[in-house]
Amino acid sequence: MDRQAFGALLTSRLPPEIVVLDPDVIAAHSGDRSEFLAPGRPWALLRPRDTSEVAAAVRVCADHGVPIVPRGAGSGVAGGAVAGDGCVVLSVMAMDRIHEIDTANLLAVVGPGVLNADLCDAVAAHGLWYPPDPASRAICSIGGNVATNAGGLCCVKYGVTREYVLGLEVVLADARVCSVGRRTVKGVAGYDLTALFVGSEGTLGIVTEVTLRLRPAPPPAVTMTAFFDSLADAGRAISAISTSTTPSLLEVMDATTLAAVEAWTRMDLDTSAAALVLAQSDSGAGAVDQLAAMAAAARRAGASYVAETADPDEGAQLLTARRLAYPALERLGAAVMNDIAVPLGGVTAAIGAVEEIARRHDVRVGTFGHAGDGNLHPTVVFDRHDPDSVARAEAAYHDMAAAALALGGTITGEHGIGLLKRDHLEHEAGAAAIDLQAAIKGALDPDGILNPGKVLNRRG
Ligand SMILES: Cc1cc2nc3c(=O)[nH]c(=O)nc-3n(C[C@H](O)[C@H](O)[C@H](O)COP(=O)(O)OP(=O)(O)OC[C@H]3O[C@@H](n4cnc5c(N)ncnc54)[C@H](O)[C@@H]3O)c2cc1C
Repeated sequence: MDRQAFGALLTSRLPPEIVVLDPDVIAAHSGDRSEFLAPGRPWALLRPRDTSEVAAAVRVCADHGVPIVPRGAGSGVAGGAVAGDGCVVLSVMAMDRIHEIDTANLLAVVGPGVLNADLCDAVAAHGLWYPPDPASRAICSIGGNVATNAGGLCCVKYGVTREYVLGLEVVLADARVCSVGRRTVKGVAGYDLTALFVGSEGTLGIVTEVTLRLRPAPPPAVTMTAFFDSLADAGRAISAISTSTTPSLLEVMDATTLAAVEAWTRMDLDTSAAALVLAQSDSGAGAVDQLAAMAAAARRAGASYVAETADPDEGAQLLTARRLAYPALERLGAAVMNDIAVPLGGVTAAIGAVEEIARRHDVRVGTFGHAGDGNLHPTVVFDRHDPDSVARAEAAYHDMAAAALALGGTITGEHGIGLLKRDHLEHEAGAAAIDLQAAIKGALDPDGILNPGKVLNRRG
C-alpha cells in the first residue's frame, strides 16, 4: 500500500473530516520541541473527536501494519512525538472536553486534549487544584502529561502526574478499548496497569480519557529569593532547605539563565549573581516559620542577598521569571533542554559536571530546574545553521546524561526517553530490565505499530 491508496482508505473508513492529507498540515504536526531530529514524511494526520474514532483509526492502521504516532500538543522535548516516514500521526487535541469535575469525590474526568492550564483554571473555579504543573502548562495536554509522567514546579511537595492518575481509558494496539484504574482513593485490584501506561510515551496504548485526583486549593504561598555568588553555595542551600524544611517549590536558575530572563523581562534580577534559588511554602499558619527557616539556611550557605515576601502577586511574578527560563534562553539561539536528575545531595556536583561539560565542548549552557527534586534542565544554546556548533551541542547534551548516571542519577527526571535518549536507556536500566520492558512492549503491541522506535531500541 502506498501513501495515496492508504489516504483513500482512511477517508473511506473514517469520517472524512478527521482525515488530513495536506502535506503542509501533516508536516506541521510531525515534530515536537526537541532538537537534532528530522521528522519524516507521514502519510496522514488524524484528528479523532472521541474514543470510537480513535479505535476505528487504530483498526485501519493495525489491519495494514501502518505505524501510529500519537501526539498531544507537541511540547515534548525528547522527540516522543517526532513522526517518521510512512506512518499516521494521531492528534488527540480535538478530544478536549472536561467531562466531569466531581467536587464531592475530588476528581475530574477529562479528554486527553485538555490543556493542563485549562484544567487548572476549571477546577480552581470550584476551589480545587490539580498540582502537577509543568512550566509548559499553557501549551501541553493532559494526555501528553500522562504519557510522559510530567513533573513541574509543585512536584517537590505534591508529587508528579503518576500520583494524580486514578484511572485511564486506553485504545490498545489491536483497537480494543480498555479501562484501567478506579475512582476510589485506594485500590489494589490486580497489577497496576494504570501506572504502566503512565509514562509509556504512546508506545503501549493511546490515552483517550483520564480520571484525575484533585486536591483542595492550598493556602497562598510565601516566597523566598536568595542570590548566590557561587553555584556551590547555592547547591549547599538547596541541600539544606530540602532536608530541613518542606518547600512547596524549590527552583534554581544559574547566571546564564538569569541574564537571559532579565534581558527579556527587565524584572530587575541581579545578573551579577552566579545563581538564584527560589523557594516557597504553602503551609498555612506555619508558612512564615518555614520561610524563615529556608532564608536562614540560604544565609548559612553563603547567600549574598535574601528576600522574603508574603505578597502572592510578587511571588507569582518571581515564578513567572522561572517559567520563562527556557523561552528566554531560546531567544539567544537554538536551545536544547536536557532533563537530568540526581539524588538530592548531588545537585552541586551535577551543576559542576554540567559546567565542566560546557567548557569541554565549548558550548553555552543555561542551567535551571526543579532543584528540590534534584532535577535540572541544563539547556545548550547553539547555532542550528553551523554544523560544528550543532555537533558540539549534541555531544554536550549526551555527555550530561552520562554525568547524571555517574552521580547515581537518571538520564531523565520528567521529559521521557523519546528518540533522543533511547541509546542511554540501557546504560541506566541494564540488560535484564530492558528485556522486561521489551517483553511488555511485545505483549501489548506485538506488531510494533504504536510509536515505533520510541523509548526502546528493539522489539519484544
Ligand atoms: C517551555 C517548556 C517547558 C517545559 N517544562 C516542563 C516541566 O516543567 N515538566 C515536564 O514534565 N515537562 C516539561 N516540558 C516538556 C513537555 O511540555 C511535557 O513533556 C508534556 O507532558 C508534553 O505534553 P504534550 O501534550 O505537548 O505532548 P506531546 O509532545 O504531543 O507528546 C509527548 C509524548 O506523549 C505521547 N502522547 C501524547 N498524547 C498521548 C495520548 N493521548 N496517548 C498516548 N500517548 C500520547 C506522544 O506520543 C509523545 O511520546 C516543557 C516543555 C517546554 C517546551
